[in-house]
Amino acid sequence: MSPERYQRIRQVLERRQTDLTVCLENVHKPHNVSAVVRTCDAVGIHRVHTVWEKKYQFRRGTAMGSQQWVRQTNHDNINDAMAELKGQGMQVLVTHLSDTAVDFRDIDYTKPTAILFGQEKYGATDEAKAMADHDIVIPMMGMVQSLNVSVAAALVLYEAQRQRTIAGMYNTQQLPEEECQALAFQNGYP
Ligand code: SAM
Repeated sequence: MSPERYQRIRQVLERRQTDLTVCLENVHKPHNVSAVVRTCDAVGIHRVHTVWEKKYQFRRGTAMGSQQWVRQTNHDNINDAMAELKGQGMQVLVTHLSDTAVDFRDIDYTKPTAILFGQEKYGATDEAKAMADHDIVIPMMGMVQSLNVSVAAALVLYEAQRQRTIAGMYNTQQLPEEECQALAFQNGYP
């Protein structure tokens, strides 16, 4: 590995935000998963969580494999995912279209935060909504009811990135140094 490449990898790892994550609940179209994971990488997310119930599992793997520089944890059900995220002290935000949801720009994303995005056709499950700390919505002014899930993810994640940049959170290394070094030398990362 050239010194330049090592430096680049180190720079990426030093900016990784371990306390910002995304949970994809049964988002199953490979191009959507790929697009969301690509945005996660772009804003410095280290790990994404996925919930794939059995009926969607035939799709798994295709999209995630292509984005190997963002770590992935898969959960068999939403309860397990929520337990892990809340256990890490994250506020869990569920994106969905509701009159009572908070405008996504009114949230403080400098707190440890997990943002859940729902399935392409049916959105987030009632279980996810019930367990979340806040429902957030991207205001819609037109005829269509919702955005593509990867577009919604990009908007919310870049608001998080904007707030975290202002707060200087990309200037402090969050990943433990041992993990940084291990990942920097791991084959194919990033
Ligand atoms: N009929 C579904 C519903 O009512 O939730 C639409 C699902 S939408 C195509 C897929 C996912 O994109 C949603 O679960 C949510 O995560 C996200 N999404 C799309 N538009 C959104 C918006 N305006 N506000 C918040 N989330 C949105």
